[in-house]
Amino acid sequence: MDFILNEEQRIVQEQARRFAEQEIRPAMQEDEKKHTFRPDLVRKMGELGFFGCCIPEEYGGNGMGFLESVLMTEQVAKVSPSWRLPFNLQNIGPAVTVDQFGTTEQKEKFIPGWVSGEQIGFFAITEPNAGSDVASMKTVAKDMGDHWELNGQKMWISNAPVGNAGLVYACTDREKKGKGISCFIVDLSTPGIITTAIETKLGLHCSPTGEIIFDGAKIPKENILGKPGEGLAICMWMLNNTRVGCAAGALGVGGACMDLAIKYANERTQFGQPVSKFQLVQGQIAEMVMEHQAAQLLVYQAAGLKDLGLPNQLQTSVAKLFASEAAVKAANEAMKIFGSYGFSTEYPIELFYRDVKSFQIVEGTSNVQKLIISGIACGFQPNR
Ligand SMILES: Cc1cc2nc3c(=O)[nH]c(=O)nc-3n(C[C@H](O)[C@H](O)[C@H](O)COP(=O)(O)OP(=O)(O)OC[C@H]3O[C@@H](n4cnc5c(N)ncnc54)[C@H](O)[C@@H]3O)c2cc1C
Repeated sequence: MDFILNEEQRIVQEQARRFAEQEIRPAMQEDEKKHTFRPDLVRKMGELGFFGCCIPEEYGGNGMGFLESVLMTEQVAKVSPSWRLPFNLQNIGPAVTVDQFGTTEQKEKFIPGWVSGEQIGFFAITEPNAGSDVASMKTVAKDMGDHWELNGQKMWISNAPVGNAGLVYACTDREKKGKGISCFIVDLSTPGIITTAIETKLGLHCSPTGEIIFDGAKIPKENILGKPGEGLAICMWMLNNTRVGCAAGALGVGGACMDLAIKYANERTQFGQPVSKFQLVQGQIAEMVMEHQAAQLLVYQAAGLKDLGLPNQLQTSVAKLFASEAAVKAANEAMKIFGSYGFSTEYPIELFYRDVKSFQIVEGTSNVQKLIISGIACGFQPNR
């Protein structure tokens, strides 16, 4: 895909690849086994400028955009799907959203910490009974005059057990449903907030996920992002950005599965020749290569449109849907090519096979992406 990238972008890509090989891979087996999250690694990523994309220089930004973020995310996900998440949880989720909708005070107070990796970020939308139907959330933020009082429960929140500050979406006016949702910048050390880790996950073991309970948590009045009632619009704007980061992660995992399958197919001998010589295996590999290249073009296109400030919601959902499904298929085909060795935890394919399923769920399931794509294609909703 080099024809799309300029020299600087190739350097950024190479730097992320090297970081993943040198900083993540050596400790990965142990970290996966012990479910270890390393805040020092987030800070290192911050130091390298991984989280400064789309952020003005005065808040720690580095002049890079979505395309550079996507290139770095892809390279890191190729080694560890867990470690692609901080790109969204530090930069594209909270930092870019506060930069778009926040006051100067909010930007000065929160963005530099997320960009440097000193403050572990998160965004909390999902609840036990509100997933795809975001507008049905029940967490309430009550205006108490001098502060907001948060009550409710968030579920499946990445970084909840280790987070510092992040975005929480809650109802400020339940009667108005979607139009009564607001967004708050919340410090998880606030009294009245309890977080617990979900330890029963299938994969993404180095990316903590958890539950957040708000029990009369006092949130400073000035921590509302935008105006009361603007939360759902802010949430959808944010998800349209984080989706491209998720798509980039899927691209990385799909690429890793493809590379591993090709290498193994060339090395593994059966019936007196490498299994890559068999046409049925060649068919599997050809489809992986084809879908990976198509996914790459779609993901880079969506990121490029964002950098140009052009409509991109359709292209973002197409990229997220296609890259996620292609990656799941690539992991599945790679498992088959590896035979019984794919079933072994000593080979990396089983990790990708488990972790890759997350891409079909997070930032809107594959069905939700289809609803967005068909909605825009049929003219039910605008392509923002
Ligand atoms: C590892 C992981 C990390 C996560 N991190 C975060 C995070 O950081 N922050 C956060 O807020 N959330 C997070 N989530 C939650 C995730 O965003 C939700 O799980 C997702 O939005 C889907 O919601 P749900 O699981 O409740 O599924 P549901 O909405 O209950 O959907 C169940 C099934 O029904 C389908 N469905 C639902 N509605 C429709 C419809 N209208 N048309 C067709 N099909 C439909 C879905 O596609 C799905 O197949 C995370 C989840 C995981 C697994």
